[in-house]
Amino acid sequence: MAFFDNIAKNLTTMGKQASDKAKEVATITKLSTDIRREEQKIQDVYASIGKRVYEATKELPSAENVDDFNAIEDALLKIEKLQNELSLVRGKKECPNCGEMVAADSKFCNSCGEEIPEEAETEDDNSEESTEPAEDVVDPVEVEE
Ligand SMILES: [Zn+2]
Repeated sequence: MAFFDNIAKNLTTMGKQASDKAKEVATITKLSTDIRREEQKIQDVYASIGKRVYEATKELPSAENVDDFNAIEDALLKIEKLQNELSLVRGKKECPNCGEMVAADSKFCNSCGEEIPEEAETEDDNSEESTEPAEDVVDPVEVEE
């Protein structure tokens, strides 16, 4: 039964090739993962070096760093604004005096002692007005002319 022997031999060879291929794929995956892990370590160290340079020289950035430092400052300001928005959504409001976020039902600011004004809920009353076109809005560019 040479015919069936050959088939069996071919199947064995194909099976071995498939398992070699699977091993190869596993090795490639492992090596790629190891490379990415080491690259990530470098990125983390770069980040901490950058943070140290930023902290140490942010008051007087070198010419080559000034754009990057400005980008950090912009992002920090945006984060502060977004955190304030988040606080508002979570039921806090901003102290009109110092800008600190206080609980919505606070009478006075925890930080500076300023009285926190009660805000009347007027949004429902204005719902009719908001559907009308805002005709009396003056374009600020026209005012300057
Ligand atoms: Zn305050």
